[in-house]
Formats: sequence, C-alpha cells, structure tokens
Amino acid sequence: MAIRTQYLGVLGEEHCFSAEAQPGTAAAPGYVWQGLRALFGALEEARFALAGRALQIVEWDRTHQYCGACGGRTVARADERSRECPACREVTYPRLAPAVMGLVRRGGDLLLARAARFPEGMYSALAGFVEPGESLEQCLEREIGEEVGIRVRNMRYFASQPWPFPHSLMIAFFADYDGGEIQVDGMEISDARWFDAKKSENLPRLPARISIARKLIDAAIGEMREV
Ligand SMILES: [Zn+2]
Repeated sequence: MAIRTQYLGVLGEEHCFSAEAQPGTAAAPGYVWQGLRALFGALEEARFALAGRALQIVEWDRTHQYCGACGGRTVARADERSRECPACREVTYPRLAPAVMGLVRRGGDLLLARAARFPEGMYSALAGFVEPGESLEQCLEREIGEEVGIRVRNMRYFASQPWPFPHSLMIAFFADYDGGEIQVDGMEISDARWFDAKKSENLPRLPARISIARKLIDAAIGEMREV
C-alpha cells in the first residue's frame, strides 16, 4: 500500500499520480522497480519527464511533512503545489536547483573537460550549480574560471533540460573564449582540452545523445562545420 500519493497532472488524456511505497514492497505482477537513471533514454521524452517529476514531488512531499521553522506538522494546500504549517504559516514549495552548462568556443576549437566522476575517456561541457545572488551568466563565468582557469564572454542561451538527480534544472549556453590558459582545478575536473570541431576522429567519447550536454556539443560542431 502507498504511504502517500500525489496528483501530478494530465499527460495526453491520462490523469497521472505518484505514490510512495514502503521500502521492500514487491512490484505488482507484470511490473518491475527501476531506477530513474536507467530510464534516461529508454522512455520517450514526455514519459521520462513525468517520471522525473514524480520522483521529485514524492521526495519533496516525504521530506516536508514537518515545518522547517517551528517543527509543526504541515498540510498540503489545495490551491497550489505547496505545504503549509498551520501553526506558523510557513509555506514550502518543491525545490529546484538550477545548474548552468557552458560550451566554450575559440575559433574552430571547443573546450571539453573530464570530471573525475565521468566514465573512462568521456569529455563534456563544463557545468555547475547556481549560487544565491548570482545570475546564470555570472555563474557560468565563475564556474569556468574556477574549474579550468578560462575567461569567457558573449554567452548565448541554447536550451534547458529538467535534471531530476535529485532536483536540478540544467540551463545550457554557448560562450566565447576571452582569455586565460587551461588550468584544471584538479578536484572536480581532472583534465580539460581544446578539441578541433572539424576533426571528428580526434573528438573524445561524448555524453549520451539524449543529454543536453551532447545536444549542445553537436549543435556547436554542426555550426562550426558549416563555416
Ligand atoms: Zn511552522
């Protein structure tokens, strides 16, 4: 039996709900439990987004049963997605942590980096979480400066993608090189290099095609090969 259920909205013509089950609950006949990451690329985009939404809402609901200000029991508000504390009126909403991704170009070269946690040989665009008080552009400048010692300018929005691991939103930009030599921080980033976008044989292993990182890289390579 479900501990809690949440209404998610309508997909196509179906009303959708999420539910939190007791740990160790067996899957219903004909069903299996599956981690969200394994479904990335396996489910079509709208279903994957729904699964990501479900996971985030369930987790937020589970961890906000009590008020963070006074410790009182919270109740769900009926008119919006929030929980309110009847004692002190504190209201909480589902959290989202925005993260920016930046792909830096210098002439015909792309700056790609290897995070220590990446699969062997894989390189990608740089990314990091936005801090309170920062614009997306400022975050990008800071992250790229901290991680690889490069200054950037002329940031252009590319696209965004929900990233429910556990509650992020990835916002991707192109940026132009403005100065500095590559100097990796040695903590988050283990290596960073310029790759000639026209020489596909020299490109490293890239992230999965469904990821926004790969779409960003492919879009840049496509544009750079046209000129
Ligand atoms: Zn309270």
